[in-house]
Amino acid sequence: MFDKILIANRGEIALRVIRACREMGIASVAVHSEADSDAMHVRMADEAVCIGPNSSTLSYLSFPAIIAACEITGAQAIHPGYGFLSENAAFVQIVEDHGLAFIGPSAEHIRQMGDKITAKETAKILGIPVVPGSPGGVPDVETAKKLAAEMGYPVIIKATAGGGGRGMKVAESEEVIETAFRTARSESKAAFGNDEVYMEKYLQKPRHIEVQVFGDGQGGGVHLGERDCSLQRRHQKVFEEAPGPSISPEERAEIGGICARAIAEMGYRGAGTIEFLYEDGQFFFIEMNTRLQVEHPVTEAIFRQDLVREQIRVAAGEKLSFTQDDLVIDGHSIEVRINAERLPNFAPCPGKITQYHAPGGYGVRMDSALYDGYSIPPYYDSLIGKLIVHGRDRPEALARLKRALGELIVDGVDTTVPLFHALLEEPDVLSGNYNIHWLEKWLAVNM
Ligand code: ADP
Repeated sequence: MFDKILIANRGEIALRVIRACREMGIASVAVHSEADSDAMHVRMADEAVCIGPNSSTLSYLSFPAIIAACEITGAQAIHPGYGFLSENAAFVQIVEDHGLAFIGPSAEHIRQMGDKITAKETAKILGIPVVPGSPGGVPDVETAKKLAAEMGYPVIIKATAGGGGRGMKVAESEEVIETAFRTARSESKAAFGNDEVYMEKYLQKPRHIEVQVFGDGQGGGVHLGERDCSLQRRHQKVFEEAPGPSISPEERAEIGGICARAIAEMGYRGAGTIEFLYEDGQFFFIEMNTRLQVEHPVTEAIFRQDLVREQIRVAAGEKLSFTQDDLVIDGHSIEVRINAERLPNFAPCPGKITQYHAPGGYGVRMDSALYDGYSIPPYYDSLIGKLIVHGRDRPEALARLKRALGELIVDGVDTTVPLFHALLEEPDVLSGNYNIHWLEKWLAVNM
């Protein structure tokens, strides 16, 4: 097992990894930008190294700064968290070339799944059902029109290098496909430096269902059921739950089994998520994320497993500490993402926290790097906390979420908490009757 791990991230996910390290008796190294010298992860880790100025390009994304921090501190492994370098194959290669361990999958698997066209091809070969769409990249508007006419409108044009909901445009009809195609291309070029796009049938009322998988890197693989992340704003998740309220035990076993076998066959190492759209009882693969997800705690809650601990074990060459038979669902869990944003427009709202009080009690987990007097810097994303609840069933989890939200105090900045208070009054949310378009429609009417 490693003696010392460097965490190449900030915020709540850095704390999450530091906590797992401490419980495993592993020393932790935090890295931080100048803007983050007072951040909680810096205070909580055993050691901290400043790796650059405020801009994440020059700090949290800087390969040489992070590798140098490992060399200075003697860290043997790097945990990337999510975002930043977590799905950067070139970084993983350099980490390994320096004789360090990357806590995540191989560079090859990251590369394969990071390109969405290759990912869909791979999924198909592995027996995973995929969304109907173009056979590969769509080179020009004429091809897009031809394919869309065959497929039937509406269609969605997506960036091959996409992520975070960017570079995606829906076309309802032939009249608008040219604009959609050109916009998706230029957005993709601007965001990812790659203007390749592909096309899919646009599903009208799907749910977003994702399967958590884990591979031991030696041909073993398991699944930890699904999460329903259908409540989204601009293709970004805001509310996640496990198990999915619409998924039966039979469906779970079937799609989970397909995913676990695929992971085993790939020889995949560590945590991964296989994302699907689910409509009329059918699953359609959209992408695979080769990292720990923001919403992993809802899976931890219902399986009582520490996924970060497991990632570290597998990266150190140990066997998975559970088999498929050990993984039995217990109750229901919900997570809400608390962002420092001003409603109704969700404008980022950085600033000084004058008072912070985290909710507590049975079945409540608050993952946050906030503290009284902390100043949220304007340079990074607006997630300031995740409130996760667990109950014996969905109604109990919902009641607990409402109770816990009532206890939470974040003063000094605006947050998305009022959105969740409002959502918990909605009959559709209470009954689990929502798809990926529900929240956008609700926001248009209510905010
Ligand atoms: P990203 O990597 O940018 O998150 P995804 O491919 O995971 O992109 O898609 C994100 C979200 O966009 C999905 O959860 C869904 O809400 C929507 N979406 C993507 N593809 C389709 C599709 N074919 N039909 C309908 N909605 C889609």
